[in-house]
Amino acid sequence: MANPVLPSSGVLSPLGLDAVRLLPGFWGDRVALNREVTIAHCREWEEREGWIGNFRGERPRRGREFSDSEIYKLLEAMAWAEHPDLPALAETVAQAQEGDGYLNTRWSGSRYTDFEWGHELYCYGHLIQAGVARLRMHGEDQLTRVAIRAADHVCRRFMDGAETCGHPVIEMALVELYRATGAERYLEMARRFVERRGLPALADIPFGRAYYQDDLPVRQAQVFRGHVVRALYLASGVVDVAVETGDEELLKAVESQWERTVARRTHLTGGMGSRHADESYGEDHELPPDRAYNETCASIASIMLSHRLLLATGDARYADLAERTLYNMLATGVALDGRSFFYANPLQVRVPAQPLDGVNHAAEGGLRSPWFDVSCCPNNIARTLASVAAYLATSSSAGVQIHHHTPADIRHGDLALRVETAYPWSGEVRVRVLEAGAGGVSLRVPSWAAGATLSYEPAPGTAASRESRPVEPGYASIERRWRPGDEIRLDLPMTPRWTYPGRRADALRGCVAVERGPLVYCAESVGDEPPLADVSAVTDAPPVEHHTDGTGGTGGAVELEIEAVHSPPGDYDAWPYTTERESGGGTRAPLRLIPYHRWGNRGPATMRVWLPAAE
Ligand SMILES: [Zn+2]
Repeated sequence: MANPVLPSSGVLSPLGLDAVRLLPGFWGDRVALNREVTIAHCREWEEREGWIGNFRGERPRRGREFSDSEIYKLLEAMAWAEHPDLPALAETVAQAQEGDGYLNTRWSGSRYTDFEWGHELYCYGHLIQAGVARLRMHGEDQLTRVAIRAADHVCRRFMDGAETCGHPVIEMALVELYRATGAERYLEMARRFVERRGLPALADIPFGRAYYQDDLPVRQAQVFRGHVVRALYLASGVVDVAVETGDEELLKAVESQWERTVARRTHLTGGMGSRHADESYGEDHELPPDRAYNETCASIASIMLSHRLLLATGDARYADLAERTLYNMLATGVALDGRSFFYANPLQVRVPAQPLDGVNHAAEGGLRSPWFDVSCCPNNIARTLASVAAYLATSSSAGVQIHHHTPADIRHGDLALRVETAYPWSGEVRVRVLEAGAGGVSLRVPSWAAGATLSYEPAPGTAASRESRPVEPGYASIERRWRPGDEIRLDLPMTPRWTYPGRRADALRGCVAVERGPLVYCAESVGDEPPLADVSAVTDAPPVEHHTDGTGGTGGAVELEIEAVHSPPGDYDAWPYTTERESGGGTRAPLRLIPYHRWGNRGPATMRVWLPAAE
């Protein structure tokens, strides 16, 4: 079963890369580009920056203390993509492993002297995830042996004691290795790492222990807090431990933390993280569009967590958030050419960024960069796209569930299905039966899709009659004995919608955004296009759709046009506040909106998702 997450129990079982094959379409095209371009791009940069040379013992050692983990994320991407460069890179990594399984190019000789910032267990986590991917796609080889030796070293060294790592990820990696091998010590080690956290296990730091979720035991926390990637990787591992040990209380704790975080600490794009200084959530309702941090890795971690909660509970709200995050964050993180990446993903950029050919030494959003000093995001995108097919569909005793609608062939038992759709540009999803089988087929109806209909169209020449009915958000199912040529059709209403911030989101008050289907839209200004600082949206007429051919080989897109008021630039008072409400005059002109995930592909630009609503 070729799956990044394979729980031994749960409401839904994931269908893996062996059961879901992407076809050309929104995700299929991106996965192909990832395999053909992005994976090689990451490898070239890791070689150029000396991070691979570190494993060959080249000195001086180069890169940050956690740079080993980038090679492991790339190995995981190569494993899912069945990339031919994997064995050679694994051979290089294996050279640096010590006799007892220890493996780290930064801390060899001074092991385990800095749990707060050393990232040794974090690096093992990514190595183990790469090993599990290889085991499931290929079977035992050098990479899987290196990963298992490292995991066994961790179990020997850390099973007793009170230590844990400042950066979670090893928890979910160890549970997955347990699932892949059946060796219970890995699950027990993961469980102990989870329970140690918050006792506390780590030293206090200027950011506070909440930065690495060591301020409270997991069971007592009310909300995700601190460094977002750390918080969501930990929560993913906690769900894995809870599912494998049958710990309902632990699972419920994460569900309620997720609920409160989604309600109070999540940007419209699904992005999480409002503070740059410590890459952290910030407080409830702290959702500034221009200072939103929304690290690409945090969105990947959020997709990983939502997927785990979906498998455990079958609750559509987890798939809804995953979809929002897939289309507006993961798809935004990489350029249409597959060679540059966003680290931070704000919802407003006020000044065009300077183009950069080399390494970006900061994480600020504005233009995608080919590489970063901390290059977690490019490698994380590579491994996630390489395995994204495993997030699309699941099975249960009731049949097959399709959570994300994109062209793909799906097989479950005897039943073979083909999904045909231009989603997210079109709301028409057709699921055609290729090979006969029995059971239910369920399609997710997203939460925004009120007024959807589900139809059954029998294969030509069969006696069954056509059926059609309205369906509510959640899952819409048809159960029958399927014949080749039978077709299910889901029609999702794709009318663009105005979206307003809730009254507690202070930084967004008075603004409006536009969404269509799963996509968040934004205004973008390149070169001498009208500036966005003085623009406000007129909401009394609906947005008008424009279907474009698209650029960069990713097919067409739907752009939107709204009416906007453009205030004359340069008309400033001496003080940015007034004692009387401003009337907001100006000239009315159309304003083009593009999908947020496509912004920044035309060169340095300003951008905004939230527009002031014209009076
Ligand atoms: Zn990152």
